[in-house]
Amino acid sequence: MAKVKGSIVVGVIKRAKRESGVLDRLSSEDREFVATTRIQPSQWYPIEVMERVTLAIEKVVVGRNDGSLLWSFGTEMAKVQLNGLYAIFRVEGDPQRQIERVPTIWKAFFDDGSWTVSRLGDRHLELALSDATSTTPVLCLSAGGFLEEACRMAGGPSAALEKSACRLHGADACRYDLTW
Ligand SMILES: [Zn+2]
Repeated sequence: MAKVKGSIVVGVIKRAKRESGVLDRLSSEDREFVATTRIQPSQWYPIEVMERVTLAIEKVVVGRNDGSLLWSFGTEMAKVQLNGLYAIFRVEGDPQRQIERVPTIWKAFFDDGSWTVSRLGDRHLELALSDATSTTPVLCLSAGGFLEEACRMAGGPSAALEKSACRLHGADACRYDLTW
């Protein structure tokens, strides 16, 4: 079963408790997980619960599931994790080297799918997330926000990321085109 690290789940659960109406949207099992689980940052948790809670937050905050909040969760994740517990993964002043660490960084947070990074040109990379089992856009959209922000933080202020393919739309992998 696909898993996610507690350090990610902690933030999702805090937000779920803070936004009124989120808990009401969850099944009783998920609600119990949110209410009673003492999340340990270094432990693994089922990814499906985290995805359902995240989508419920988006539905309440944005009014619909358009992916916008998922993207901003990824941005936030880069800021919080790469400045905090996972600062060891930080590369200062070298966006390419920072992004080349993504396959390793991902494994610290998610036990689902794997990344490849290909250089397409100067300040231009293609990334692909393959073999993920997740059936929601939570992982692939928040990964987009994460990649763009990680690139920015590493010294690419004009980082721009476009999703060029998605597993959820029939592609073999979720693909991203990153320039800075
Ligand atoms: Zn995707």
